[in-house]
Amino acid sequence: MNKRTIVALLFFLLFIIYLPSHRFAEEKKEESIYDKRMALYMKTESLTQIPWYFIAAVDQYERQIHKDLKEDQIISIRIPQEIWFGPGNQSMDMEMIEVFNGKGKDGNGDGKADPNNGEDALLTFATMIQAYGHNEEDFKIALWEYYKRDLTVQTIKNTARVFKKYNSINLTERDFPVAINYNYTYRSTWGDRRGFGGRRIHEGTDIFAGYGTPVHSTTYGVVELIGWNLYGGWRIGIRDIFNIYHYYAHLSGYQEGIEIGQIVKPGDVLGSVGSTGYGPPGTSGKFPPHLHYGMYKDNGYSEWSFDPYPYLRKWERMARDNR
Ligand SMILES: [Zn+2]
Repeated sequence: MNKRTIVALLFFLLFIIYLPSHRFAEEKKEESIYDKRMALYMKTESLTQIPWYFIAAVDQYERQIHKDLKEDQIISIRIPQEIWFGPGNQSMDMEMIEVFNGKGKDGNGDGKADPNNGEDALLTFATMIQAYGHNEEDFKIALWEYYKRDLTVQTIKNTARVFKKYNSINLTERDFPVAINYNYTYRSTWGDRRGFGGRRIHEGTDIFAGYGTPVHSTTYGVVELIGWNLYGGWRIGIRDIFNIYHYYAHLSGYQEGIEIGQIVKPGDVLGSVGSTGYGPPGTSGKFPPHLHYGMYKDNGYSEWSFDPYPYLRKWERMARDNR
């Protein structure tokens, strides 16, 4: 063997040794945070009989609304100081909290109720829910009393249903919204002006494809809206477990059986590409067939649209890798 061959061989060996172990380490790290969370939800369930998926859904919601969370933070539930300690109290001592009518609990058994401790926060929240009962309707009422916001209650309730159905909190799979084995084209069209409806800017990405091309759900979530809209034509809206609303417009029709409240997963067929909209119900053909795909984030106070294009590129790669 000459020098070159040996060097090449060495590089090849390094490559096969390094690559799998590196990938394995990353996967393991990702798995462990979900495992840690799940273990704490299960522990809280065993202490309160509140189903783990209710607790997990509240934690998941809170993870989306706080901006200062650490990346490896396990639990994100944050209970306001006044509720935790009771008005006028600042002590983590359990007896003091009780005297002041606080709700704070000691979940990790260290003798104090610390609002910054994940286990304490989980037990405290689950105990507050427990006061209302253990079924889905009780849970809804408890959430309403705490958050006083319809969209928040709806989001958490639906996230709990998704977690329960898939018996998992690690739901990071994604799909491209148009079947990738069909012909399609798209480019970044965020903010483009549109021809219809005055001065609105384009809030989404248009994916051009032939009539009848299957439209897939990109995420796990729940169908929130179905029906006709002047601009969107036949459209469907799905809210995922990350407080993100996914909007699919101009469909030629819906997949049979799709209805509001239905739980979907990435790849589920929602309908097919069409050119509906820009007129009364049924109007079609005023523009070339395409899927308009929009994304809206809710931060617990308001909702705003953001550019789906970078996500579409990523999901397209994921879909191709999964084939
Ligand atoms: Zn569009």
